Amino acid sequence: MPPDFAPFSIALHHFFGSKQPVFSGKMNFLNKIISVFNTHAEAPAFCIQNKFYTYSDLGLVVASIQSKIKENCPGEQNLGIVIKDDLETYASILAIFLSGKTYIPIHPAYPVERASQIIEQAGIKYLLSKTENNTYPNVTVIATGKTPLDETGSISLAAFPLDETNAYILFTSGSTGVPKGVPITCHNLDSFVNAFDALGYKTDHNDRFLQMFELTFDLSVMSYLIPLCTGACVYTVPDTGMKFTNIYNVLETRKITFALMVPSVLANLRPYFEEIDLPDMRYSLFCGEALYKDVLQEWMRCVPNAVVENVYGPTEATIFCLTYKIGGNITDYNGIVSIGAPMQDMDAIVVDEAYKQLPDGEKGELCLYGNQLTPGYLNAEKTREAFFEQNGKRYYRTGDIAFRNEEGNFIYCGRIDHQVKIQGFRIELSEIEFHLRAITGSSNVVALAVNSPNGLMQISVVFEGGDRDTTDILEILKTKVPPYMIPAQVHFVIAFPLNTSGKTDRKALQKMIA
Ligand code: AMP
Repeated sequence: MPPDFAPFSIALHHFFGSKQPVFSGKMNFLNKIISVFNTHAEAPAFCIQNKFYTYSDLGLVVASIQSKIKENCPGEQNLGIVIKDDLETYASILAIFLSGKTYIPIHPAYPVERASQIIEQAGIKYLLSKTENNTYPNVTVIATGKTPLDETGSISLAAFPLDETNAYILFTSGSTGVPKGVPITCHNLDSFVNAFDALGYKTDHNDRFLQMFELTFDLSVMSYLIPLCTGACVYTVPDTGMKFTNIYNVLETRKITFALMVPSVLANLRPYFEEIDLPDMRYSLFCGEALYKDVLQEWMRCVPNAVVENVYGPTEATIFCLTYKIGGNITDYNGIVSIGAPMQDMDAIVVDEAYKQLPDGEKGELCLYGNQLTPGYLNAEKTREAFFEQNGKRYYRTGDIAFRNEEGNFIYCGRIDHQVKIQGFRIELSEIEFHLRAITGSSNVVALAVNSPNGLMQISVVFEGGDRDTTDILEILKTKVPPYMIPAQVHFVIAFPLNTSGKTDRKALQKMIA
């Protein structure tokens, strides 16, 4: 146990009374968490901003927030949470789950206009927030910060079947300028937890999990939920200062044993690999964007005792659903590590433009099927575009180009469209273009993802028609999109290069600005 951890114990009948709630359905993840509250009350659940909280501490805050929900908005299904790196935020998530409701994370650093679109689409009337301050129109704030640590509080589990209830709704970049809502049901989440268990990782309450993700990104859900299901401790990454330095500090000083990270972390840490030695790391997973073999091999020397895996999945298929365990021979394509094979109760196929399944070795669009698949977007039109039915199965079109090799492993080869990943964040370049066109009243602008000198991808925008001052334009853009979508570079060209069909040749443009 870390030296600065002071256990705080509380009798568990305060939470559950003498009768413990038992859920009779398949809701394993909630039952698991409830059982952990009982069995690991004095163990550390979270280390946030260098402060430890036990499962008892967490349980008291959950109980109090749950009673606030009951008091203020018993009939509301969708509740927003103004996310911060604090205990109240995680306790709000658990209180919402246990109440059979749905959480929608609202990032305080995102423009109010964007948050308002999310609030409106999800029909949110109440926001859980640490403070009473409210920056958003048409919502009532329930302050969670003044939560009294009342030892008589009790946690209760919703009595109705939760399978089809949405556990959370996350919003991803939408090409038409409006964020796309992806609901994930309790059944989806439960299927993920079961499939994760089936991977056979030997994790338990002694493990220390890294949680490096914004709660608006679904990899965060694995990073807090899996440890809470086993009584392990979640170590969040302080959000002040340099993110990547903070990640490394947490990995080293907290002797993290399980870390799910985006590959961009490696690009940032690469200059320091020689000095990095993390013998306590037992599982080092990567997800969210292409993982390159050369940097991975160097990283493996930093984590000599770890099982290393490349895992893959879109938000629409709950966190991740394919895994590739790194062994002696690493399968890759153009240096990109294979994304492996589907997890339990998930399936993947590669199809051509007519949705005909392609044989092994042929490249096409990767489509997913199975228990982790969202029932569909909040916007039915988007659902019709991205899902199709075949032989009684419902498939999600990922937009990823892939093929399956003879060993049954899938190989990621790139994107069909203009979706990119910048430090793990999913961005539709056309969304940036949409806003810039609306701001400038002109269509002469293209957004591209370009490689920066340190190997990290960055957003560049290119304006046609020669140099001009774009300060005001970028200032307005900041009020429309999250900070990670703001271009790092602005270029000007006299005229866009055109391809044979007369459209802007994005590849040629990329070369022009390189
Ligand atoms: P998100 O919904 O933000 O999780 O983004 C999903 C997209 O990220 C996928 O459709 C892929 O384009 C990309 N992605 C996720 N994991 C991987 C991986 N291991 N390798 C390559 N691309 C990945």
